[in-house]
Amino acid sequence: MTVENPAEKANAPRLDLEEEHEIDPYSVVEIKALMDEASKHRNSARWAIALALGLRQGEALGLKWADVDLKAGVLKVWRSRNRPKYKHGCTKKPCGRKPGFCPERQLARPETAPTKSRAGRRTIGLPEELTAILREHRRQQAAEKKLARQLWTDGYWMFAGLPASRSARTWTTGSGKGC
Ligand SMILES: [Zn+2]
Repeated sequence: MTVENPAEKANAPRLDLEEEHEIDPYSVVEIKALMDEASKHRNSARWAIALALGLRQGEALGLKWADVDLKAGVLKVWRSRNRPKYKHGCTKKPCGRKPGFCPERQLARPETAPTKSRAGRRTIGLPEELTAILREHRRQQAAEKKLARQLWTDGYWMFAGLPASRSARTWTTGSGKGC
């Protein structure tokens, strides 16, 4: 027989529901795509930055090069990148596919949002190791961009889209616009 102890219950760590709502969880497929990507070391700087600075995925993905000053060693976090959500754009003849596969798909929500985390908008001092990682990342990205030519959809994101899978590929779509 178990007896519930109300005092114990009251002391249990409580989930901050508001905080919980801000997190848009990744699907298993997306996580797999992300891990595959991480294992290839492309954009691995993102993991280093996110883990070292305690950024959410959306905050790390929402970083643009304009948000960092590598000389001064500061990073501004104020934007979060939403997971893309699509709606049909096929107004004349329904395509019969899922919205994400619609040939004329439209973004169903803004690509970015101001960061809502408790700490809110913030400026973070970058340890030297991280500025070095970002310098190297920028160099690699410039090389990739050169190779990709017109296939590169440039939103000036610090961490550009993942090309490996469909779900990952959606990250690059429509990112040509600024915020
Ligand atoms: Zn459609």
